[in-house]
Amino acid sequence: MNTRHRERPSPKTLAVWGGEEGVDKLGATQMPVVNSVSFDYPDLDTWLDVATGKSAGHIYGRNTNPTVEVFEEKVNLLEGGENSVSFSTGMAAITGILFSLLEPGKRVVSIKDSYGGTNVLFTDYLPKYGVQVHLCDTDNHKAIESQVGQGCDILYLETPTNPTVKIVDIKRLSAIAHEVGAVVVVDNTFATPINQKPLQLGADIVLHSATKFLGGHADALGGVVSGSKHLLNEIFRFKEITGASLHPESAYLLIRGMKTLGLRIAQQNASAMQIAQYLQGHDKIDEVFYPGLTNHRNHDVAVSQMQGFGGMLSFKLKGGYGAVKKFLPQLRYVNLAANLGSVETVAGPPATTSHVECSPEEREAMGIPEGLIRYSVGIEDVSDLISDLGNALQEL
Ligand SMILES: *Cc1c(COP(=O)(O)O)cnc(C)c1O
Repeated sequence: MNTRHRERPSPKTLAVWGGEEGVDKLGATQMPVVNSVSFDYPDLDTWLDVATGKSAGHIYGRNTNPTVEVFEEKVNLLEGGENSVSFSTGMAAITGILFSLLEPGKRVVSIKDSYGGTNVLFTDYLPKYGVQVHLCDTDNHKAIESQVGQGCDILYLETPTNPTVKIVDIKRLSAIAHEVGAVVVVDNTFATPINQKPLQLGADIVLHSATKFLGGHADALGGVVSGSKHLLNEIFRFKEITGASLHPESAYLLIRGMKTLGLRIAQQNASAMQIAQYLQGHDKIDEVFYPGLTNHRNHDVAVSQMQGFGGMLSFKLKGGYGAVKKFLPQLRYVNLAANLGSVETVAGPPATTSHVECSPEEREAMGIPEGLIRYSVGIEDVSDLISDLGNALQEL
């Protein structure tokens, strides 16, 4: 056997070992949960060296913590960033990025289909602080390019999007944004670093709701940001001052969940593809949205920037919301819930999940039909999921 280490281990290996090598685990094979608020020092000089960043160590739990640091480093290695900072939730991470890098008079260009909470930051909060936000039709690349050209400090992208699984071209839009000196931020929650590496495609910052696929078990909230050192320093400072810090217990659950990230995502990619193909041929279904389907509007972009098409798909039932109400409770292997990216399959309509705050008319205007179902594929045997879907469709 060749025992030389590879220069760059595979993401699957990094998900297992990343961030844990060389860390003092007191001899434990697993990173312990360090539930200490503060850390003490034998003398003032040693303490001062840590406080001023001259030597490694921890001072106070709002700033850093050993368990939390392992989680941050694991994600950082997977995303290929220079540094990484975690938060208590995905929304805290997004808030941290936007509020640390923006100031009155700055301009954000983004897309209409970003995550619901992100969209509210854009429409209700940033304008209150004198930041201008322009939201473009999600996969209209020409419109995004034109808006970026009119002045842009942050280009904020999400791909694939929620709930119609649209794809935007990270490489193409990052190049345009850098021409005007904008910082490119990508929400990589749906893809995960197993399927997509935004920093390699030109983005400056990548973020996750770790609550979803990274953790993968719907038992811990968390957010994480990775990217260049100088931007991450600003974001870290905002986090330590405003205090939306990841709890060590949550960090432990996220680390444990990430060990199987490679296996879970490989299964979810394969199952979602099979389910999308099955649904596409069904006579009770109007339309299926999945970037792996060759008839997806931006399938070519998905092929060029993704290593797998992910575990999220959506489909439109004939018969609108009435059919959705009848169909969903018939499913056996599914949680009707607001989360996604879990080992269990999760489903729900946009009316109760991603777009709960909009009226039916607003959803229709946004191109989100009332007959739509968002389906997050779990790790169950795909033939059970397909027969479950088939049985429920037969009832319609
Ligand atoms: C869930 C989600 C968020 C918000 O994350 P929380 O952990 O719930 O705060 C942000 N972006 C995307 C794409 C999400 O799915």
